[in-house]
Amino acid sequence: MKLRQQADLSTLNTFGVPARAGFLFEVEREEDLLELPGFRPERDLVLGQGSNILLLDDVRGTVLLNRIRGIERLDQSDDQVLVEVGAGENWHALVEHAVARGWHGLENLALIPGLAGAAPVQNIGAYGVELAEVLESVTAWDWQEARWVVFQAPDCRLGYRDSIFKQQPRDRWFITSIRLRLCTRFTPRLEYTGLKEELGCVSPTAEEVFAAVVALRRRKLPDPAQAGNAGSFFKNPVLDAAAASTLLNSHPDLPHWPQADGGTKFSAAAMIQACGLKGHQAGAAAVSNQHALVLVNRGGATGRDLWHLAQLVRERVAGRFGIELEPEPRIFANSQEST
Ligand code: FAD
Ligand code: NAP
Repeated sequence: MKLRQQADLSTLNTFGVPARAGFLFEVEREEDLLELPGFRPERDLVLGQGSNILLLDDVRGTVLLNRIRGIERLDQSDDQVLVEVGAGENWHALVEHAVARGWHGLENLALIPGLAGAAPVQNIGAYGVELAEVLESVTAWDWQEARWVVFQAPDCRLGYRDSIFKQQPRDRWFITSIRLRLCTRFTPRLEYTGLKEELGCVSPTAEEVFAAVVALRRRKLPDPAQAGNAGSFFKNPVLDAAAASTLLNSHPDLPHWPQADGGTKFSAAAMIQACGLKGHQAGAAAVSNQHALVLVNRGGATGRDLWHLAQLVRERVAGRFGIELEPEPRIFANSQEST
């Protein structure tokens, strides 16, 4: 376990906003957690790679950096393999590792930044696939009861960019490993708009799907190394039948997709664009020119600059469409103002 005092967090969040922590612990082994004095949700914070968080303030207490590594095949049957992954493994490296070994199901989730331990927190998803489809269980340390707990997938309450770990009390568990049930036979998932076109064929290999997703993402999404960002800043609103019909009566051209539960998902990017906000800049904080759902730090923006811009976007969208956009990343502040 490594400890630093008065740590700089600006390189530990992909927005690249300035912030400091009183202490920083790198948790490399599960046992490290037992040596810590405890976790105070009002002062402390767990971070993976910081790619889904906006820091509005310094962290007064301790940042626990999850760095627990390891990928182990636990069991293999005819067409399935059960894999345990340390929460500190890089997600994209895990996807590459799985594709290389013929363990399938993660190809569409290539190039999502962050660590494996954060993947269940918002049930990461892309190109028509969510973690929920392959997650078997999550092992975590329960700060409140000082014991290890295993959540089977249904206990995680995974939803659209949501889980029990994102709900209140949000910081109760430190995830130390996840188990994934992957397939040894490959079935391509190509229903998502643009994927078939990128591939140019209807029965691709797993390597080809992986490469197509990587290529699409590199082309379409702003790179945090060039302009700090946390990916999509707003979730796509999902409305029930009555609300969806009202919205479509007044805005029939809004892109929307029916959901399995009967709701309808609307494109938040289209709403932001319709408000004329794509590329809108306020100081060093901006709505990306490349992608209306992404807020970017053009250099020198603070967390609060970006948050003010997010409020402007929410007000304009609410004014025009009557929809309250919900931020997707965690908004970290010392008071309860926004989190
Ligand atoms: P962090 O940002 O460090 O943490 C996120 C939250 O999880 C925080 O609340 C933190 O406290 C908590 N947390 C982290 N680790 C643990 C742990 N071990 N135990 C308990 N709590 C923990 N997301 C998608 O779903 N799909 C995408 O396609 C996608 N694309 C992205 C593209 C870009 C360019 C960027 C910058 C982000 C994108 N994201 C996407 C968002 C982000 O990559 C994911 O949410 C990712 O899982 C966050 O991982 P992280 O390790 O960086 O988490
Ligand atoms: P895109 O293909 O330009 O689509 C824009 C939005 O439309 C996405 O948010 C997506 O919703 C929705 N959409 C498009 N086709 C859909 C379909 N067939 N069915 C249902 N919804 C559809 O998206 P993009 O921004 O380039 O991203 C590609 C994929 O990577 C998306 O799945 C996106 O979620 C994911 N991604 C996520 C983040 C993040 O931070 N969460 C960042 C970058 C990319 P969904 O978001 O629900 O898929």
